[in-house]
Amino acid sequence: MRIRGESNWMKALDFGLCAVVACLAGPASASPAQEPYHLVPGSFTPGREPDGNSIFLDGPRGLILIDTGRHPEQQARLIAYARSVGKPIVAIVNTHWHLDHSGGNAEIKAAFPRAKLYASRAVEGALKGFLPRSRAEAERYLRSGGATPEQAADMRLDFAAMDAPQFLRPDVPITGSSRMTLAGRRLQVNLAPYAATEGDVWIYDPATHVVFAGDLVVPLVPFLDTACPEGWRRALARISATPFTMLVPGHGDPMTHTRFETWRRAYGRLLDCAASARSRDACVAEWKEDAAAFIPAGFKVDEMAAYYVDERLRAKPDERQRYCPGGAG
Ligand SMILES: [Zn+2]
Repeated sequence: MRIRGESNWMKALDFGLCAVVACLAGPASASPAQEPYHLVPGSFTPGREPDGNSIFLDGPRGLILIDTGRHPEQQARLIAYARSVGKPIVAIVNTHWHLDHSGGNAEIKAAFPRAKLYASRAVEGALKGFLPRSRAEAERYLRSGGATPEQAADMRLDFAAMDAPQFLRPDVPITGSSRMTLAGRRLQVNLAPYAATEGDVWIYDPATHVVFAGDLVVPLVPFLDTACPEGWRRALARISATPFTMLVPGHGDPMTHTRFETWRRAYGRLLDCAASARSRDACVAEWKEDAAAFIPAGFKVDEMAAYYVDERLRAKPDERQRYCPGGAG
């Protein structure tokens, strides 16, 4: 999601991994007529920043696209899918402003100019805080000459997205949770305030009992960089109370409700451990055990998990509360 010179993603990937796409890509798709949704899995390519999952929902008045990825290759796949079914994308939903989910908005709107963007207003704070801070860090890293050509290309992609903030800002802001009609299709659109970001959007489709959770659910470790940890815990409790049978996370494979509860329990225990007197290493070990089903073979998450315990969950109160109500943003 981020543009820092050395992201935690890179750290995980550098440890060596399974055939990345094979282990984290979604399952083979059924034929379009049978699908309650169409998943275009996000990418995890070694040495590159990731793309989040993108999902299409078919509506009477066109296609709804949830998240637009970061890389042009992902947007090309999305546009090709829409063309293949012969319907326009009329609604884009960003689950959150991280650029692996929203960086492709401009490309999608260029191909489908009538598409309206539905997102929370959290990007406004990000455009003033996190994104320029990350950009300054990335520019320093570029100047140092330490970036690989792939890292430099990813950073420039993110700079371009930041230079066109009109494509990150919603046409229709999501300011609360309500039933909405998108592309002629009724969906429960939910705002989780102060969770993985200042405003995460997650969707429940009552017709098919599927939740689209964005990065409120992810493999490896919860990405706490811009998170209010307790708000995130509350968002997971709300998702838990929803009568869904399948959940599509922001990255990785769709999961059943039971499997989601395993993730939610692991998340809660990580926060509880970090708030206790137990050692950092004990918290990391517990996470790895609790969340083993979400850590693909070949991935090592120790360094990422330790980073989040030390730098986010056990940071000084100001830093810990930075992305919570009243925080510095
Ligand atoms: Zn993401």
